[in-house]
Amino acid sequence: MVFEVIGKNVFITAASKGIGFATAKAFLEGGANVAISSSDENNISDAVSRLGKITGKTPYGLKCDLNKKEDIRSAFRKAELKYGHIDILINNCGGPAPGYFNDFEEEAWDHAYQQVLMSALQLIRLALPGMKNNKWGRIINITSLSVKQPVENLLLSNVFRSGLVSAAKTISMSESKNNITFNNISPGFIHTERLDKLALNNGEKSGKSAEEILSEMADAVPVKKLGKADDIAALALFLASENAGYINGQTIAVDGGLIKSTY
Ligand code: NAD
Repeated sequence: MVFEVIGKNVFITAASKGIGFATAKAFLEGGANVAISSSDENNISDAVSRLGKITGKTPYGLKCDLNKKEDIRSAFRKAELKYGHIDILINNCGGPAPGYFNDFEEEAWDHAYQQVLMSALQLIRLALPGMKNNKWGRIINITSLSVKQPVENLLLSNVFRSGLVSAAKTISMSESKNNITFNNISPGFIHTERLDKLALNNGEKSGKSAEEILSEMADAVPVKKLGKADDIAALALFLASENAGYINGQTIAVDGGLIKSTY
């Protein structure tokens, strides 16, 4: 069985590093046409060149700050102009600020709302007409383990990612005709730059080294290791393929068994 994405047009946000980058790599290797975007122009051109060296294919690099509605509109339109239409939308974003309820003023809530939830909804609105017209589409949201098991000091992530999961399920009920599916991936502890920074911060607070913190994280996972960004990319590639056309409205964890829930 082959999980084919050859010739499909893909738009991936927050793709200059980590999970987004690995996902772009997987789709390029799978023969798709890939537009990658990120808030920082230097990071995006660096990612385009690294992806070119690794895969031998050139993605279309676009600046798109997910906190700027105009950036989102303009980047998506540019990708549509280049490829004709977008078949596969992968909504990834930078992680919202960590913290507890008393840590956040209203501005932080507004910022995280646009960063995590509204940006994805805006992109779904932009992508759906082309998918409907083409009678085929895949929408995949990269969320977090926090949608299945809230993390105490990740209030903004818990709230807005859960909102996105609920939106994806609800939209799928009315918009999944014509081979369009909506699914979410929940990463557990995935070893990216973000996790390294988190380990460094937690280590500074607890007097431990970042390596010790990472090793404790790995030990908390039933498979006793951290995940790789490629582990997330593999599921995204499968969900985008023709073979996954009957999987819809789902939230699937890639977490080595970390989340203590049965669904
Ligand atoms: P990362 O920090 O390695 O990469 C984040 C990407 O987001 C970068 O390309 C960065 O340039 C981009 N970005 C940041 N702010 C942006 C903005 N305003 N507009 C557009 N792009 C922006 O992070 P990662 O580990 O790859 O995680 C990706 C997502 O998955 C994050 O939302 C993260 O919270 C979530 N997640 C990660 C893990 C993990 O263990 N790594 C676990 C659960 C959830």
